[in-house]
Amino acid sequence: MAPQRSGVLKTDENGSMTTIAEPAETGQGATAAAPLRWHNRFAALGPAFFTRLSPQPLPDPYWVGRSRSMARELGLDEEWMESRQALKAFSGNGVLPGSDPLASVYSGHQFGHWAGQLGDGRALLLGEVVTPDAGTVELQLKGSGLTPYSRMGDGRAVLRSSIREFLCSEAMHALGVPSSRALCVTGSDAPVYREQVETAAVVTRVAPSFIRFGHFEHFSHSGQTGQLKTLADFAIDAFYPQCRHAPNPFAALLETLSERTAQMVARWQAVGFCHGVMNTDNMSILGLTIDYGPFQFLDGFDPDHICNHSDPQGRYAYNRQPGIAYWNLFALGQALLPLIGEPDDAMAALEPFKVLYPQAYDAQMRAKLGLPDARPGDRELIADLLKLLAGGRVDYTIFWRRLSMAAAFETGNLAWEPVRDLFADRATFDAWRERFAARLQPFSLAACATSMRAVNPVYVLRNHLGEQAIRQAQAGDFSEVQKLLDLLQSPFTEVAGCESYAAFPPDWASSIQISCSS
Ligand code: AMP
Ligand code: MG
Repeated sequence: MAPQRSGVLKTDENGSMTTIAEPAETGQGATAAAPLRWHNRFAALGPAFFTRLSPQPLPDPYWVGRSRSMARELGLDEEWMESRQALKAFSGNGVLPGSDPLASVYSGHQFGHWAGQLGDGRALLLGEVVTPDAGTVELQLKGSGLTPYSRMGDGRAVLRSSIREFLCSEAMHALGVPSSRALCVTGSDAPVYREQVETAAVVTRVAPSFIRFGHFEHFSHSGQTGQLKTLADFAIDAFYPQCRHAPNPFAALLETLSERTAQMVARWQAVGFCHGVMNTDNMSILGLTIDYGPFQFLDGFDPDHICNHSDPQGRYAYNRQPGIAYWNLFALGQALLPLIGEPDDAMAALEPFKVLYPQAYDAQMRAKLGLPDARPGDRELIADLLKLLAGGRVDYTIFWRRLSMAAAFETGNLAWEPVRDLFADRATFDAWRERFAARLQPFSLAACATSMRAVNPVYVLRNHLGEQAIRQAQAGDFSEVQKLLDLLQSPFTEVAGCESYAAFPPDWASSIQISCSS
């Protein structure tokens, strides 16, 4: 067991951590220790899996953004989230009692090539906490300084990318896309050197587990079969206990991960989300979207869209995401082979993806169209619509929302004009709409409109919206981060006065370039 720390740690002048007494330092919200119950299961796996270390402090930290809903789910009250203890803990300037920080080691395939050993190069797992509803989640700091796995990096994250990760994690969760969550972002004026000088920030991320495909690849490729089995047993016992009863529990684990991943990517495609860096070290074994970097929500619909400026070949283009997910699962299957035994069993465990992904995608798209049942011909109806959208680079989010709004008015009404206006070739759209109306029979479009509005969001984190919040934050005003968070946490509810957040992107949006540098 890890030694329990009894107070918040602080750096002395030499930069090393020392323990200070609590609650004298907690300031205004002198509520003593955070109401968190720690239960650090990953830390119990043993030293082959991680290196224990404390975060590196940042000078004069400040709050950039906080997710109240995430705090509530963790049982952290608002007063405590205002306290200096919270600010210290989530900027890496102290360690909460019961937390047992560590950086984990993993490997991975990056852009299709084996990258060898990687690891938490700038993240620290603070530990696992028990939530008020008796679940467990891990808390992780990202940008908290050097670790043994930092390689050439500085262990830091910049304000811009931290705001993007914070907002997108919470936005995806609210959209119903499985994702890691984010509790808060803290910042500091400490300089961080990228293409230009920027400032440092730390995101506190939350997920039941941050284990990646790359963790399994690490132990498999380095021939550490004992550790590979320890990790797989842990994953099964902690997250997939039903696999234990299968004839081959490790093949069952792979099959379950194929299902989870298929569901996740189907949701990405339906909501128009491009991840941007689907390396195997960025793939969660819980089927959660993790490691937000150069992601993007589509503006105009372009199936070939590449959101990552560092991916000129388009390996991770929007329409390639399902195929890449399968590629990554194949790499995971390869890694699990020493446990699974027969290659045929591993292949058989991957096979369901090929059926489940299209099924999951069809279900998502039918929901977007408000179709209450599945019928032959649906796939063509959807494919033909997407062709229309692609042909005119029609704004993806706006199209679906306008369709949902117009649907309430059935046909022949002026309400349809906003949808038709999106198409240069209105006649072709009208023809599609007639097919759509005929397909719906005997259901009425109006009856489906409510469910459509519940799945087709008004607000998504478009690049330019993030960019506006970032620019203001870089000038010291964090109000836009919080405002955007509030909208994105209720993405299906129109808010009066916030029309611009649901509008077409401005011309300058297309010149925003987001790369892996963050
Ligand atoms: P990413 O592309 O962000 O998923 O990062 C790939 C690997 O590089 C991960 O192991 C990260 O921890 C590591 N990494 C990325 N940026 C940094 C940085 N600034 N300092 C240290 N490690 C980093
Ligand atoms: Mg990563």
